[in-house]
Amino acid sequence: MDTTGIAALRNPRTNKGSAFSGAERRALGIEGFLPTVEDSLEVQIGRVHVQLDALAGDFQKYQFLSDLQIRNETLFYAVLMSDPAAFMPLVYTPTVGEACQQFNRFFRATRGMYLPITARGRVKEILSHWPEKDIRFIVVTDGERILGLGDQGIGGMGIPIGKLALYTACAGVPPQFTLPVMLDVGTNNQELLDDPLYLGLRQNRVRGDEYDAFIDEYVRAVQELFPKCCIQWEDFANFHAVPILERYGGKICTYNDDIQGTAAVALAGIFGALRISKQQLTDQRFLFLGGGAAATGIAELISEAMALEGIPIADGRARNWLFDVNGLLVSSRGDLADFQKPFAHDHPPVASFVEAIRALRPTGIIGVSTVPKLFNQPVIAAMAGINASPIIFPYSNPTSRSECTAEEAYKWSDGRAIFASGSPFGPVEIDGKKIVPGQGNNVYIFPAMGMAVLATQASRVPQELFIAAAKAVAAQVSDADLASGLIYPPQSHILEASLETATKIAEVIFERGLAGIPRPDDIGAHVRSLAYKPAYPANPANPA
Ligand code: NAD
Repeated sequence: MDTTGIAALRNPRTNKGSAFSGAERRALGIEGFLPTVEDSLEVQIGRVHVQLDALAGDFQKYQFLSDLQIRNETLFYAVLMSDPAAFMPLVYTPTVGEACQQFNRFFRATRGMYLPITARGRVKEILSHWPEKDIRFIVVTDGERILGLGDQGIGGMGIPIGKLALYTACAGVPPQFTLPVMLDVGTNNQELLDDPLYLGLRQNRVRGDEYDAFIDEYVRAVQELFPKCCIQWEDFANFHAVPILERYGGKICTYNDDIQGTAAVALAGIFGALRISKQQLTDQRFLFLGGGAAATGIAELISEAMALEGIPIADGRARNWLFDVNGLLVSSRGDLADFQKPFAHDHPPVASFVEAIRALRPTGIIGVSTVPKLFNQPVIAAMAGINASPIIFPYSNPTSRSECTAEEAYKWSDGRAIFASGSPFGPVEIDGKKIVPGQGNNVYIFPAMGMAVLATQASRVPQELFIAAAKAVAAQVSDADLASGLIYPPQSHILEASLETATKIAEVIFERGLAGIPRPDDIGAHVRSLAYKPAYPANPANPA
């Protein structure tokens, strides 16, 4: 790769912009291409903040940051890592949703790889065009179930790009090891098909054997070209996400954050809650409002965590009950899918959620129904009547879908609820005491998982790693935060938190013999030594 002359300014990895020193400008043959002053990275970060402040909307800021990433990667990450909690909503949810919807209108510079299903038979050849040869981490989507926005076709590429930026900004996964991938299999979104600016295959989604064969070819191509690579599946429709995970999960290094990361962050909240209530996991009983992918994924991970604490997995599953749009999931129901059956227990039918609470006496309720306001006053009061510290987790996103607000949960439980939600809520004052609600954001889990996998060259990502991640996140909540009701660590220190979580995950990877490298004496130091730091290369003509 030519990194001298004008190419040094065009390569985002070597470009320093106004921070090239006089000596570097001479050595690279770029004197005269830049204004006179030699800036420091700090001054450049300040200038980016000035430019961002001048922009009116979050989508404009997203676009500006995307352009910066393609122009000067070091400065992009230096800006993000200067305040990750503030930049997360700009490079990922919620702003990335609009970016996916606007992708075809505002497409500018390219990033990552696009693999259309029409290129079947040539996937490996196309993937081999990527300039980096040591890829360790791919986030891939087919754009079918983008956030809560449904089928965005090729515009779904915003998700792998944004998510990988968080792997780097929040856990230090070096960007040169990452690759965003879009598998273009068409779209069933008629608006996109009718849009003359649409950038993807103008056809309905390919399904069935042809789709499966394409996924298979893609997985094989990645393994052959990048043997140390982990594949993270993202925002596939459930009817593809679950079988893909079943097909490849036990065989290669792969995971699905929508399913496993979500479950782990909920479990982290439960471990945090148990630090407040001083109870055991195996003494808990959970009732889920919702019986879909999120509910079954969380219920299964809780059951496996209970099994690790010494009870049979069947007993763990028996402590997790689901309640969906047709009532309590009981074994006599004839409308259940296979993935729900482990959580359909012997019990007479129950049609009302509050009746189910009275019958089952759960210690916690978890809302993953997508329907707002169903954790109403009778529901919360029933939980508070049974439990000294009821666990109340309304996890449905966005805020407008939350099963209750933080204020409602605290008010209706006399301030005794241990609360966390999928979307953020501000602090609440009850009887003069400030209570701080937590947000079960997957960002506590997936960047750390990526860093652990990278640092150990793990061959698989079993469920146990997600339990280890959940425990590590909960262990990092300070006593002061717990005293204020907060059960997740503050997002402002996400990098340090992720490196600690990655270390704990890596320990399990080594213990289970899943690592591709010998166990280092100090796993934490090893993980930290690999973490990306946004600093300009000392020798831009020959970057590391
Ligand atoms: P899904 O569509 O697979 O499942 C929804 C379930 O809710 C179904 O079982 C349905 O029967 C049930 N339901 C619908 N209306 C109901 C009603 N009136 N009463 C009882 N049950 C009802 O969806 P999913 O993928 O499981 O996601 C559910 C929610 O969880 C979404 O809002 C999503 O945003 C949220 N979620 C949050 C996080 C997070 O915050 N980390 C992660 C993943 C999912």
